[in-house]
Amino acid sequence: TSTIKESYTDVLIIGAGPSGYMAALWLARCGIPTRIIDKRSNEIFTGQADGLQSRSLEIFKSFSEDCFDWATMDQAWKVANQMEEICFWSPDEEGELARKSRIPDSIPNISRFTESVIHQGKIEKWFTESIKNFSGGSIEVERPLLPVSIKIDENAKDQQDYAVEVLVRKLDDDLARPEQYGGIANGLYRAFDGDQDKFYNQNIDDADKKDFELIHAKYVLGADGAHSWVRKQLGIDMEGEQTDFVWGVVDIVPITDFPDVRSRCAIHSKDSGSVMIIPRENDMVRLYIQLKEVDRDVETAGDAREFMGNCDDPKAKTKGRIDRSKITPESIINQARESMKPYKLDYTNLTWYTAYQIGQRVSPNFHRHSRVFIAGDACHTHSPKAGQGMNVSMQDTYNLGFKLALVCKGLAKQDILQTYESERIKVARDLIAFDHKFSRLFSGKPMIPNAAMLEGEATGSNMDEFHSVFLHGSRFASGTISDYDNSSLINKVGGATREGHEEDGVFSPLASKVPLGRRLFSDWALGQIDHRPWHFADRLPSDGRFRVVIFPGDVKQYPENMEKLHSFNEPLMAPESFLNRYTPRNAFFNSVIECLVVHASLRNDVEFYGFPEFARRKDYRGRVDYWSIFAGVGKTHNTSTKVDIYSTYGIDKKAGAIMVVRPDGHVAQVSEYTGEGLKQVCDYFSGFMIDQREIAVPEKDVTSYDSDR
Ligand code: FAD
Repeated sequence: TSTIKESYTDVLIIGAGPSGYMAALWLARCGIPTRIIDKRSNEIFTGQADGLQSRSLEIFKSFSEDCFDWATMDQAWKVANQMEEICFWSPDEEGELARKSRIPDSIPNISRFTESVIHQGKIEKWFTESIKNFSGGSIEVERPLLPVSIKIDENAKDQQDYAVEVLVRKLDDDLARPEQYGGIANGLYRAFDGDQDKFYNQNIDDADKKDFELIHAKYVLGADGAHSWVRKQLGIDMEGEQTDFVWGVVDIVPITDFPDVRSRCAIHSKDSGSVMIIPRENDMVRLYIQLKEVDRDVETAGDAREFMGNCDDPKAKTKGRIDRSKITPESIINQARESMKPYKLDYTNLTWYTAYQIGQRVSPNFHRHSRVFIAGDACHTHSPKAGQGMNVSMQDTYNLGFKLALVCKGLAKQDILQTYESERIKVARDLIAFDHKFSRLFSGKPMIPNAAMLEGEATGSNMDEFHSVFLHGSRFASGTISDYDNSSLINKVGGATREGHEEDGVFSPLASKVPLGRRLFSDWALGQIDHRPWHFADRLPSDGRFRVVIFPGDVKQYPENMEKLHSFNEPLMAPESFLNRYTPRNAFFNSVIECLVVHASLRNDVEFYGFPEFARRKDYRGRVDYWSIFAGVGKTHNTSTKVDIYSTYGIDKKAGAIMVVRPDGHVAQVSEYTGEGLKQVCDYFSGFMIDQREIAVPEKDVTSYDSDR
């Protein structure tokens, strides 16, 4: 390989789907040298996943800081179709299709965002723009590039070593265009999955060396989808099972007399299978339809390599692979017509279709040697009906991205990367368990009320059970309750579950409504300097920083609480304070850990300059930080909205509390509002951060670091 071009990067991302893009966005935001490659020559314009759950929208918002008018991830909330309701339809006593119930699609108030729908191509476009803007154009998807070999130096000692070598090959654009069946854009392909082998088997010496490049990376991410090449190179299996349910998907603008076509609907017909309606942007509707009759390739009977790509386990038994060339949009829509009878269904604007067999699998490991990681469909696959595919995949790398950035910057120890697997594998397993239950109930024939009992027919899906699984699952599906266990990054010590409500999480008595290890729920707070109402989460954007939020309580009613806050000034401003010792010497004072104060007095009862200096620090130019002190109680001027974040978080206005929030918005620790509590914060950071005081730094102008924020 001596004549082959060689290059170096901190992180190499293989695969530019939602999980790869999210990782690239984090790394771009944190200023980490990164490359992202994809074997396809083109991005996707239609189809694939479309559901955005509340947590994904919160994350998008967190990358859309007001100070950057080009940070466009929150476009999704504006442009997507926001789904308000889900309607359940199933046979009534006479076996006629009837609406059984109509309920909110998302659990009310679980987030400020509700489940929304827009196609994956648009989301990937916003990712592309934001990544380009955050990285100043240095990070862009390079395509079509195919990795052909990967080697990890297991003995690499230093976390900054370029321990992974990936040989990549530039492909011909035409070769890398996914094969399509029929004239309409569809998902009846996996971009030349079968053909890939021919590239791997080719002898590199026979090929043109200028098409190859050897990339040396500190860390590599395999975000290369369900057939993940990276996963296979790491020798990681997928564990789980395959079902015989075959589903068709079409994106159409419907012409119908069905009354709930603009709501999400779960329709179980008596004898003609099930349909899920997803109302989309621009009057479009996606139908997920259970296909009754599908041509299968009998030679593959017993082989579970279903065509949409979830499965590589030859032991799984199914009736055989679907013959993809026999599936047409008409065959899918005809099946929908049957299920929706007596309602009529016609359409215009058929823009995409696909079909797939459900497989529910998860990898037992998400990394090798904390150097190469896999994420998204590469390590978990499931049915798309709960709208989880894109969301859980993005949330995987939302978890990993900031950790990689901290390690690459030399701010945190490499050990923190292990928390990626422990935190996300649990979510993936919960997802598969939920999907297992949900998709079987959805795919099963419905039990007709009374008839089942009268005729002694015990088989079939119980619609009440389906309804309750949906309700229970919605909380999980929203992505807002992902709960990370104790680790170097999460400290739940001193917390407890509530009897009978264990699923609600572990709470510290000091903030009795804030589940430890979960993302911090957002509520209003008022800027002390200007009375501007903020959704508190918007003051904790995804910029790679930890936040220490001090809740000193009511500093007017309890003057001793204000005194205590002043007594924190000296330890916090000292060079050995956690605020200073983990911040590189040439960096902006709060570029690693930001300290915020949220008090519980009326804003007009206290003065900005009455707060200690650590909360309103000046930069080297003398500019004051106005944006770190908030009133957590009061009323907004315009809407008279009542503000009481102390009640929302269950924090006592006399006792107060100190909360540590990770860069991904998850609550890491809650401690007492005392000197001892402050020491616990110090202990938290000393567990994994690298003391910067002894580290030599290039004499760099602080302002260049400042622009990193
Ligand atoms: P992907 O989105 O699969 O992205 C992987 C990326 O890696 C792709 O861009 C691929 O080109 C690239 N890649 C693969 N192998 C290599 C390699 N060796 N080298 C370089 N690049 C590579 N979800 C739903 O909810 N509803 C649906 O109807 C639906 N339909 C789908 C249809 C299709 C055809 C596909 C592929 C997926 C569909 N999904 C659907 C699933 C959803 O799109 C995924 O769950 C989600 O995109 C997962 O994101 P990801 O980034 O992990 O993987």
